[in-house]
Amino acid sequence: MTGEPGRLGALHIAICGSGPAGLAAALLLHRAGHRIDIYERFDAPRPVGSGLILQPTGLGVLAELGLAEAIFARGAVINRLFGRAAPSGRIVLDVRYSARGTGWSGLAVHRSALFDVLYQAAMDAGLSVHSSTPVSGSDMLNGKRVLTDSDGRHLGAFDLVVDAMGSRSPLRPPYTRSQHLSYGAFWANIPISGDLGFAPDALEQRYFRASRMAGVLPVGQRQAGGPQEAAFFWSIRQQDVEHWRSRGLAAWKDEVCSLWPQCAPLLESITSPDDLTLAHYEHFTLARPYGQALVHIGDCAHSTSPQLGQGANMALLDALALARALAHSQNVVSALSDYARMRRWHVLLFQAGSAIFTPFYQSDSRVLPFLRDWLAAPVSRMPVADAMLAKLVSGLTVAPLAGRSFQPFRQGPLALNR
Ligand SMILES: Cc1cc2nc3c(=O)[nH]c(=O)nc-3n(C[C@H](O)[C@H](O)[C@H](O)COP(=O)(O)OP(=O)(O)OC[C@H]3O[C@@H](n4cnc5c(N)ncnc54)[C@H](O)[C@@H]3O)c2cc1C
Repeated sequence: MTGEPGRLGALHIAICGSGPAGLAAALLLHRAGHRIDIYERFDAPRPVGSGLILQPTGLGVLAELGLAEAIFARGAVINRLFGRAAPSGRIVLDVRYSARGTGWSGLAVHRSALFDVLYQAAMDAGLSVHSSTPVSGSDMLNGKRVLTDSDGRHLGAFDLVVDAMGSRSPLRPPYTRSQHLSYGAFWANIPISGDLGFAPDALEQRYFRASRMAGVLPVGQRQAGGPQEAAFFWSIRQQDVEHWRSRGLAAWKDEVCSLWPQCAPLLESITSPDDLTLAHYEHFTLARPYGQALVHIGDCAHSTSPQLGQGANMALLDALALARALAHSQNVVSALSDYARMRRWHVLLFQAGSAIFTPFYQSDSRVLPFLRDWLAAPVSRMPVADAMLAKLVSGLTVAPLAGRSFQPFRQGPLALNR
């Protein structure tokens, strides 16, 4: 560690995991002059999953990294989140970003696009990833944190280890109380050609009570220059997955189309159960997301269902908070507690919000979807309430980095005409 007395000098930092949290942290900390080693379990770094919505918060972090243009070139601008109950057709979700003013929007992207943009920036910055290196544990030795891989080999001794290994991180404290959610979802990515009648700038959903839900999210291009795609998702109870398999695809497609007939042409490109990826959701929040020379960021610090669509955005915000904390602290100990303080209320609010909202959309309850359709939906469309909801979805109900300035991304008038 070197630098001016009283100021934190350049550190040797290990980043474990090359998801959005890890890659953003690597870029920010490399730019701040730290020496970075990135460890990833995959043979070739690659993203897992389907589409996600980047909110003005996550887009603000990408803009700070100089990556706004690159990500907008690959994504689909989302102006509205829209849902109807079946069979009544009642509108039960209608969030418009514009309720907060002009220029606010989300950006839906395929995970590969987010990964590509961050990974390319990391490569351009001269960073490299130690792939095929599954981190399995860590220990303190002579004031440094030593990392080990799954063969028990020492990977190195570091001034700081950043755990960005997602919700199943082996470095997560063993006493973490975690809840496995009963509902997950199948996801598929589908190329879109021609007008299939789905809004190009909206996440659309259909619900039957809270036990069935289908969604379509335009996500732009998975590969640069590739076709426009949409992410399709179908909510399912984990315990029903085997039954789903035994029924066969045709029966499932009939069920989807009885809920939402417009999906029929989309489903044609799903020809095998392997075209669908099953996502499980877990809910936990670390009370103290750091230890000695160790800090947890992203899903390994707070994981939840994607109902509020904040996970990747929170991961990016964590990375920025950590970089800011290290830049303004005199030692690692105070930097880590500053990081946790900066993020505490934002994380708690969205974790609580996700825990409260999820059963209204994914559960066996009959009461909650009734309240959703007949009470919450009309109230949410009233003036003021609609702006509050847009602010919540944007991730801006409380300051993302408490006590520090942060610029969420808002498009200018020219960009709006893209
Ligand atoms: C179906 C689905 C839909 C979602 N939709 C949204 C959305 O609309 N908006 C949103 O913001 N979020 C959404 N999310 C959540 C979002 O994807 C996550 O919050 C985000 O990916 C977390 O980023 P991360 O970098 O913390 O972890 P991850 O993306 O999980 O990355 C962790 C990385 O660590 C690596 N790793 C794991 N274990 C090891 C190991 N032992 N050694 C080395 N490397 C390891 C992994 O291979 C991976 O590269 C969704 C999630 C799912 C599952």
